[in-house]
Amino acid sequence: MIKEIILATGNKHKAEEMKEILKDLGVKVTPMISFSEHPKTEECGKTLEENAIKKAREAAKFFCKWALADDSGLEVDYLGGAPGVYSARYAGEKCLYENNNNKLFKVLDGVPLEKRTAKFRTVIAISSPDGEINLAEGKIFGTIALQFLGSNGFGYDSAFYIPEHGKTFAELSADTKNSISHRAIALRKAKEIIKSL
Ligand code: IMP
Repeated sequence: MIKEIILATGNKHKAEEMKEILKDLGVKVTPMISFSEHPKTEECGKTLEENAIKKAREAAKFFCKWALADDSGLEVDYLGGAPGVYSARYAGEKCLYENNNNKLFKVLDGVPLEKRTAKFRTVIAISSPDGEINLAEGKIFGTIALQFLGSNGFGYDSAFYIPEHGKTFAELSADTKNSISHRAIALRKAKEIIKSL
């Protein structure tokens, strides 16, 4: 039975969201950012899986403990799955969310709604202290809207429309988004894996 797991993310909001979902696990959940020193993994993988595994393994090795890391991306069918693993830097290194969204709308200019299908995907890697990996995946299917809608959230939230909810991610409350999102689905699966280890 795992006693403690390190959350290998440098993102405070993500660490909080993960902690909330994992809180009733009976396992001590420690964000690595609560330590003054922690690894800063370069996300140079060609897939979400590669990046998540690299982040989890480096943290597990560094702390000699179990570690969990995630990597997410937006996959647009018309673009052959782009921006995918490059979602954060679609419009270039160190670009803003706004630049990425504008690029996405530009490349989809004139593409009708029925061809704008997309999904958000999260891969979570759980690494044992000696680097053995278990993976969990979460997906949510939607459409790239014809215009930006809503102001909540971050990243591509105002572009991603979920037909079942009749809203973009950015029009949903944080609680609703965090209960249906790709990350939440992957985390719930990761929780079951952790329980079984
Ligand atoms: P990360 O791996 O979770 O840091 O995600 C990489 C990039 O994907 C982010 O910088 C965002 O651009 C995009 N992304 C991931 N998850 C979401 C989400 O829930 N909403 C909007 N954009 C997201």
